[in-house]
Amino acid sequence: MAENLTDKVAAVTGAASGIGLASTEALLAAGARVVMIDRDVKALNVAKERLGGNIIPLEVDLLDPEMCASMVDRIIDVAGSIDIFHANAGTYVGGDLVDADTKAIDMMLNLNVNVVMKNVHDVLPHMIARGTGDIIVTSSLAAHFPTPWEPVYASSKWAINCFVQTVRRQVFKHGIRVGSISPGPVVSALLDDWPAEKLEKARQDGSLLEPADVAEVVLFMLTRPRGMTIRDVVMMPTNFDL
Ligand code: NAD
Repeated sequence: MAENLTDKVAAVTGAASGIGLASTEALLAAGARVVMIDRDVKALNVAKERLGGNIIPLEVDLLDPEMCASMVDRIIDVAGSIDIFHANAGTYVGGDLVDADTKAIDMMLNLNVNVVMKNVHDVLPHMIARGTGDIIVTSSLAAHFPTPWEPVYASSKWAINCFVQTVRRQVFKHGIRVGSISPGPVVSALLDDWPAEKLEKARQDGSLLEPADVAEVVLFMLTRPRGMTIRDVVMMPTNFDL
């Protein structure tokens, strides 16, 4: 039977914009209370104002080690529990490797890989103690079809796919599902650096997703019957040569 999300607590990272915001809205519409985690307080407050009572905004800069380490305890303090954790926050560094700023590479690997691993590490004991839980990680099509213009980004998402597939096998026996979604290009702030003609080509190819498209898949993953063996979804674009 499909899961009902009424009164479940979902925590979404990178919730103030793009995919995280759309996921928040979909979870909310499905009856969940949503803890929106982001470092952008202004955007969190705008979302709270617009989306209303079942939203709990939580300011966390995931790259701040102390804020990252205390995040799960703070979620439980404000919401009482965590039924669903959507590890979504991430960033992008593209282009030729030789041109990339090594500080930006460090920051991206930290957010896309280390922070996700630490967050899942911290949320699991709570879910194991309750004998249930759902974790969904936003990966990327880049992890499945590595493209020459984003070697570090693709590698970060490849790493996190490996993490998802291995952790899942450790915690399945505790009633916890760990899955991933791998969208192709999504219209969001993350694509701000994409050249306009590349965006337009993707749009014309039917290869450009809206955040709401991704949120539909997140919702499907979280409400699918617990016996269903679908664990990872790759959102294939029409054209890979974007
Ligand atoms: P976005 O830039 O619209 O949203 C990212 C959110 O994360 C923002 O609200 C930002 O404030 C927040 N954030 C960034 N750094 C943070 C930090 N240190 N602490 C707390 N919050 C922080 O981007 P998006 O496109 O919605 O990306 C979300 C996820 O989707 C990322 O993991 C990204 O890699 C993945 N993804 C995006 C695309 C795409 O084309 N946009 C495609 C595939 C996968």
